[in-house]
Amino acid sequence: MCGIVGFHGPDNVVADMIIGLTALQHRGQDAAGIATFDGTAFHLCKGQGLVNDVFKPKHVKKLKGHTGIGHVRYTTQGANDSDLAQPFTTSYPFGLAMVHNGNVINFRDVAKRLHEKYHVLPKTTNDLELIMYTFASELRVKNLDNLSVVDIFDAVETTQELVKGAYSTITLIAGHGLLAFTDPLGIRPLVLGRRDTPNGPVWAFASESTCFDFLGFEFVKNVGPGQAIFIDNKFEAHFKNPYSTPKKFCAFEQIYFAREDSVIHGRLVARERVRLGKRLARKVADAGLKPDMVIDVPSSGYFAASGLAEAIGVPYRRALVKNNHMGRSFIVPTQAGREDVVKKKLNPIREFVAGKKVAVVDDSIVRGTTSRRIVRLLREAGATEVYFISSAPPIVSPCIYGIDMAMSTELIAANYTEDEICRHIEADRVIYQDLEDLEELFSEEKGHGGSCFACFSGKYPTGDVTHYLRHIQEERASHRTNKKDKKSVSAKAPAPTEH
Ligand code: SF4
Repeated sequence: MCGIVGFHGPDNVVADMIIGLTALQHRGQDAAGIATFDGTAFHLCKGQGLVNDVFKPKHVKKLKGHTGIGHVRYTTQGANDSDLAQPFTTSYPFGLAMVHNGNVINFRDVAKRLHEKYHVLPKTTNDLELIMYTFASELRVKNLDNLSVVDIFDAVETTQELVKGAYSTITLIAGHGLLAFTDPLGIRPLVLGRRDTPNGPVWAFASESTCFDFLGFEFVKNVGPGQAIFIDNKFEAHFKNPYSTPKKFCAFEQIYFAREDSVIHGRLVARERVRLGKRLARKVADAGLKPDMVIDVPSSGYFAASGLAEAIGVPYRRALVKNNHMGRSFIVPTQAGREDVVKKKLNPIREFVAGKKVAVVDDSIVRGTTSRRIVRLLREAGATEVYFISSAPPIVSPCIYGIDMAMSTELIAANYTEDEICRHIEADRVIYQDLEDLEELFSEEKGHGGSCFACFSGKYPTGDVTHYLRHIQEERASHRTNKKDKKSVSAKAPAPTEH
């Protein structure tokens, strides 16, 4: 999960870009980058850290231009290394700069084709290079003296046919304009907005609509599955029709990743989370549970917890207080980092929970260790019973579309029954959302237009992914072996992984 933005308008765009990237900081905290084009040259600044750490006034001054793209990075594949920070650029044809959010799953085939057919060798392990060079290779066979929008969309279409996986991309084509396109299933989000100014319109693409609220942009549309949108240098927008294949938008964006104030595919994320919470009421009643209060694991459990409390008629309380400066544990890339964040970031309010039966709602249970720590915290604070409630169904398969969840061997629900999980996390009861309920809530009839549920069902919408699953299993095993080798002087066994 990364965050991307792109702006194209009559004035310098860097100020908007920095505000836009800050609004997407929850999507990635490892690195940030911006590329602008001033009519003759690219200006590029990228590095590791948060947006406010990377872009200092001296950088902002240099990032001139009325077109720009930006990225906040969350490490999935590859090391957390500043060489892998986006945007990436290539000088031919025209000069392209590209950012993406997602993951390429047939990277070997794409890399082999690029090498054999075009003698291109990507410089890094970032799969953005595969998308960028495939697009560049398809573009350069067009009539570059008279490049048309049809040529650009044609190059996009071939890229979409060749590159499999999940990706939302924004490309700055020097001297021509700004292009955005997604994979044919539209797995990762991308939206288009516009702000009118006395000098003409400013167009913007962003991973989430919340950027537009901060910047006074009007939401125009979601970039549909496989759709391409090109904003030319006269600031006119051109649209390539979306694919007619069913959309497979990531269900986990609504459950956890996206900001609560974003509207994705016409649905306010906060409202969807309330609906998920309300839907859990029946399962709580069927289990015969009568909690005294519902609390949330801040902050992504809040809306589901409030929905559940409302539906079962018991008070909602914020009884776990979070230190907001500790970051999101899910997107901290290392095990040790995640553990450290969880340990320091939650503090229970003893007066609220002492002597009470507490239903605690979290967005999901991944490895179970964080859930167990929360149950222990609540018991130490005096809760008499703790029911752990997940607004997501059991996660049984790894995400291969850009979310570094864990491998199947690490996913607690892939290996244990609900009763075993309950014992493992030391709760009095564990309740999960039913997958059927989630599918029904997010079904096309309810206006969602189709979602990916692969991490809950193991059914990957891009077809047979056995090879890719084996590859990431091996890659992570080798990553761990390397880490173990480095740590061998301490003669300690590696700590179990956890979320
Ligand atoms: S596998 Fe899960 S996290 Fe990954 S795209 Fe599908 S729903 Fe989202």
